[in-house]
Amino acid sequence: MSRLDSFLRRLIAQRDCLNLAAELIHGLPGPVFELGLGNGRTYDHLREICPEREIFVFERRVSAHPDCIPDPEHLFEGLLEDRLSELQVRFAGRVALVHADLGSGHPDQDARTAAMISAGLPPFMCAGGVIVSDQELTLPAAETLPLPAAVQPGRYFLYRWPRVPAAA
Ligand code: SAM
Repeated sequence: MSRLDSFLRRLIAQRDCLNLAAELIHGLPGPVFELGLGNGRTYDHLREICPEREIFVFERRVSAHPDCIPDPEHLFEGLLEDRLSELQVRFAGRVALVHADLGSGHPDQDARTAAMISAGLPPFMCAGGVIVSDQELTLPAAETLPLPAAVQPGRYFLYRWPRVPAAA
């Protein structure tokens, strides 16, 4: 597959998975986390499909299109691993949707990032909350959801927290 075709499939996967996730969290209160602003494409899409929600963005170093940079109250700059541990109390159990798009194209680094967010995200998620990820995550408490029809297995990943927390 050409790099152009691969890129197009990635964008379609992002759009279709985000659209499905927005439907899945319909009626569920809570903010959205966008992990990895990049040039702001998926952030801009999230703004469009989740107009009523607060969207908090995490990015190591902002270099997005000027129209796609959140206001300072909704932007957490610096390393995600640092910001998550600082914010756990504020957002514990409240986040309805996370989109993680942190891939670097370097398998070792991406595996470390996937392990970091697999460990770091669960305390933030509300019951019924959804994670959309460009990397496969290890989330034993979550259900792995089927992908939209146009998305090939392994290109994107969808996870949902149980609506009723398991009894202790
Ligand atoms: N979703 C974006 C878009 O549609 O434009 C593209 C995101 S790009 C693939 C990944 C971004 O994640 C990069 O801008 C990178 O700086 C950021 N990133 C990767 N690892 C990070 C980390 N550990 N902490 C904070 N930001 C990180």
